[in-house]
Amino acid sequence: MNIQENLNHIKSTLPEHVTLVAVTKTKSVDEIMEAYNAGHRIFGENKIQEMVEKEVQMPKDIEWHMIGNVQRNKVKHMAHFVSLIHGVDSLRLLREIDKQAKINERTINCLLQIKIAEEDSKFGMSSKEAQEILQSSEISELKNVCIVGVMGMATFTDDQKQIEQEFKKLKSTFDELKALNIENCKLQTISMGMSGDYEMAIDCGSTMIRVGSRIFGERNY
Ligand SMILES: *Cc1c(COP(=O)(O)O)cnc(C)c1O
Repeated sequence: MNIQENLNHIKSTLPEHVTLVAVTKTKSVDEIMEAYNAGHRIFGENKIQEMVEKEVQMPKDIEWHMIGNVQRNKVKHMAHFVSLIHGVDSLRLLREIDKQAKINERTINCLLQIKIAEEDSKFGMSSKEAQEILQSSEISELKNVCIVGVMGMATFTDDQKQIEQEFKKLKSTFDELKALNIENCKLQTISMGMSGDYEMAIDCGSTMIRVGSRIFGERNY
């Protein structure tokens, strides 16, 4: 597994408007440094503790993305450095992120996680809930968070038609939310697509893909 080759190959195929988040969960600092040394700077982790441990050991010009489900009581551990939180699924969580961002005198960018898969195991809100959050009077008072888009995960299936439908649903949800024209919300990011389905995701409008195993190899848990 040549990490640099995998990375460069994927990057060479991406349209310019698509950002690659290299997903490093379970991978060692040495492995991640191979990607760093190839020039990559955007990394994603799905556990706060693991991300925090790697952040202290690694160069400071890295953009760390939290792509997993977020427990409110752990937001404080990453609030000083996280650059984008993909999995925001409630107003309660947004309040906590805002509070911790304020303590650190910064603004934290967030994506609303939308449930597009059929599986119950996938987190996220409905597009209606997302609309309600964006339209709530409270949201304009949360000065230290900025909602910049949406994130979703397709069902784990071989059925390409189903995956396509789910990605299209996320794109149309994004379009609906953007049409609300909420002040202070610059919606620009659609985070969808992983190793197995990112090409399809890009065809359906993704602007940010989260790819792990196609860069770093299979994970051993
Ligand atoms: C692990 C993970 C990925 C990357 O998965 P791969 O199939 O290895 O590319 C993407 N998004 C989330 C939320 C993940 O947890």
